[in-house]
Amino acid sequence: MGGGRAGTRAGDEAGDRSGASPLPPSADGDEFAAIRRLRAVFEAAAGGGAPEGEVWIGDDAAAVRAGRGPLLLATDLVVAGVHADLRWCSPADAGFKAVMATVSDIAAMGGRPRHLLVSVAAPPSVPLDAVVEGVAEAARLVGAPVVGGDLSAAPVLVVSVAVTGSLEAGPQPGGEAAPLLRSGARPGDTVLVTGALGASAAGLARLRDRVLAGVSTLDTLADDGSEALAAAHRRPVARLDEGDAARQAGARAAVDVSDGLLADVGHLAEASGVGVALSGIPVAPGATLADALGGGEDYELVVATPEPRQLEAVFAASGLRPPVRIGVCTAESGVVRLDGELAPAAGWRHSLG
Ligand SMILES: [Mg+2]
Repeated sequence: MGGGRAGTRAGDEAGDRSGASPLPPSADGDEFAAIRRLRAVFEAAAGGGAPEGEVWIGDDAAAVRAGRGPLLLATDLVVAGVHADLRWCSPADAGFKAVMATVSDIAAMGGRPRHLLVSVAAPPSVPLDAVVEGVAEAARLVGAPVVGGDLSAAPVLVVSVAVTGSLEAGPQPGGEAAPLLRSGARPGDTVLVTGALGASAAGLARLRDRVLAGVSTLDTLADDGSEALAAAHRRPVARLDEGDAARQAGARAAVDVSDGLLADVGHLAEASGVGVALSGIPVAPGATLADALGGGEDYELVVATPEPRQLEAVFAASGLRPPVRIGVCTAESGVVRLDGELAPAAGWRHSLG
């Protein structure tokens, strides 16, 4: 996707190095033409090419302007057969999810994504154009351009995304902006979640059951009556507005729900040296409490704040969905309780079941 001979090693080197090229054939059979096509797709998603003074796809490396304050960096992988199953997750879904999962980590810091680097390795059986379409759609939604990457042939589909991010204004006008950390919670803080949980896990179970029972194929899944749950699994959305609003409303800690609520709250509790007493977990329609507690991949944010009313007011003023109070931080370091009982550290176990 980068141009020329480096930046991305898409055409020449990857093809020679690893056998069959994943690049789709182009009209003139020129792999560089295909790279130019991908560049056009990503520039269209970004609403245009690089602004004056920046270089995106097309040179050995991208050159971009860093925002003020700390530079946020995150990366994540989607590997077919590990994080996604192409029987019930399309190649476009895999590209979309890889971007959103990565950007969700920026949301959990209260930041905004600025630039994406996307590398795709795929076997000839996976249509690269579809993967790119999913990547471009997610990039458009989060408002960050794809400024480079790499392409390669591989035995299975792998989508690797790296993102830069920055913080908008600080809590006080002119104040220094600081990212939301997992380690900032203190005993007495209120814990809130930005939305109901469990839809992704319930959606995955629904999709898998219907495909394995022969009721649906990947192409017809959208018509099987479980659109909302299926979409939650196939097209999750990073909660960027919520993370930014929480940070500006004075929240002290946050984590995104990727592994599962109990596991991710456990991460926050451990990092902060606090306990968390949970109750009243909001369960998404069609999901179970088990889905909500352990399912993961919801990408809602869990936030700890000493001033929950202020956070709720800022969310309301911003037109965001009301956050839901789900607990309080305690002095029981590292201990997560649900309705008073010790909670099992249930989370997503990197298994597709
Ligand atoms: Mg995370």
